[in-house]
Amino acid sequence: MRDETLTEQIKGIREKKYSSFELTEFLLDRIKDKTELNCFISINDNILEEAKAADKELERGSDKPLLGIPIAHKDIFCEHETKTTAGSKMLENFVAPYDATVVSNLKKAGAISLGKTNMDEFAMGSSNETSFFGPVKNPWDESRVPGGSSGGSAAAVSARLCSAATGTDTGGSIRQPASFCGITGLKPTYGRVSRWGMIAYASSLDQAGPMALTAEDCAIMLKEMSGHDKKDSTSAQVEVDDYRALLSRPLGKLKVGVFEPLMKELDSDTSLVMEKTIEELEKIGMTFTEIDLPNFSYAIPAYYVIAPAECSANLSRYDGVRFGYRCDEPSDLKELYQRSRTEGLGKEVKNRIMAGTFALTSGYYDAFYRKAQQVRRLIKNDFVEAFKKVDVIIAPATPSTAFRLGEKAGDPKEMYLQDVYTTSSNLAGLPALSMPAGFVNNLPVGVQLIGNYFDEAQILAIAHQFQSITDWHLTSPDIPT
Ligand code: GLN
Repeated sequence: MRDETLTEQIKGIREKKYSSFELTEFLLDRIKDKTELNCFISINDNILEEAKAADKELERGSDKPLLGIPIAHKDIFCEHETKTTAGSKMLENFVAPYDATVVSNLKKAGAISLGKTNMDEFAMGSSNETSFFGPVKNPWDESRVPGGSSGGSAAAVSARLCSAATGTDTGGSIRQPASFCGITGLKPTYGRVSRWGMIAYASSLDQAGPMALTAEDCAIMLKEMSGHDKKDSTSAQVEVDDYRALLSRPLGKLKVGVFEPLMKELDSDTSLVMEKTIEELEKIGMTFTEIDLPNFSYAIPAYYVIAPAECSANLSRYDGVRFGYRCDEPSDLKELYQRSRTEGLGKEVKNRIMAGTFALTSGYYDAFYRKAQQVRRLIKNDFVEAFKKVDVIIAPATPSTAFRLGEKAGDPKEMYLQDVYTTSSNLAGLPALSMPAGFVNNLPVGVQLIGNYFDEAQILAIAHQFQSITDWHLTSPDIPT
């Protein structure tokens, strides 16, 4: 059970190698052994009961695809009668009255919830250091960050505390931590997965996705997470593919787009990882073509106007009246609002609310928010043009490997530059995944595949076929490279 993937765990339970109860007990013990990683904000107290119930269901012949599999959820997903904090003091004691659609879909598939994973506060960050519940440590080197904001989910999968977890990605929060922790993570097309019950950061960019060891495991998870949901008007009415069944299909001579300027910025070791990945992909029949993304360099500035603007609107609901934290003994209503927000929200979140409110202020709206939306459209158009020539785009996932805890915490600009390769696909709404592709100084490096709209099946198949000829994705932090 030590290093098993989700696919292997599904088989293990079905073939009665072990029960869901035994698997769950085993994982709970490992979580206790690894508390120093700080991956979890809470653990589901009922999980052993739920595992027993799943074992009984199996006896009765149930064929639910994820029956009895313990899955961890980023603590941004509401779960019925479960604390849902979004990594914030503001929601430290908030108990969700319902399940997010992602949570209920996975439950319907038979999964049981292991617990809620640590994250940057309200998903704002790239290192998990803005969490009210303290930073998560990277299992490959505990003096380093796991990435963020889905850092708890990434570290938990990487340390084999669970085989799969949910994450969310607004500007890179699935792919960057997946890259830092040596796992596979997929941000689906905007609208593929329902956002209902997922605490909102920037609603036009937020998207939930799977984080697991392999592309095959992400394919299994994505199928169960996805689908139209009438409770989320932005969720797409596009049929969900059987991603797993499509993994091994012949890909033919797929054309992969390379945007050269991105490659030039990499250090020599990471460049080498990219080159080797390209060589491996050539072996499975891909051909490479240069593409042009003329507005790519504007992705970070546009993102850091649009995301804060939307966050300033979304977070206005945390006012001390309706949700979460309320300050002690306010003298009047104004003080109640002011002190509840001052005391309940962390520094980075407050910075973003201020910047976003400014960008939306009349007089500045045209210069900032409207301009950023126009740039966003240009970025999207560049991708639409590129996808007329190529089937998929390859790019680095992150500018470096995992950095040290505290190294960038004092410099927001440095931190924002972490997202240089990831935000453009959120702005365009495209699916993208990060897959483990090598190591630099014993730290994992991810490579990103960006797909066309609703073509998750394609990038998952490429990643799967790459993983069938490489084993980076199976190297675990306890077994040094
Ligand atoms: N690091 C980016 C930010 O801080 C992305 C976060 C995310 O994708 N949730 O906004």
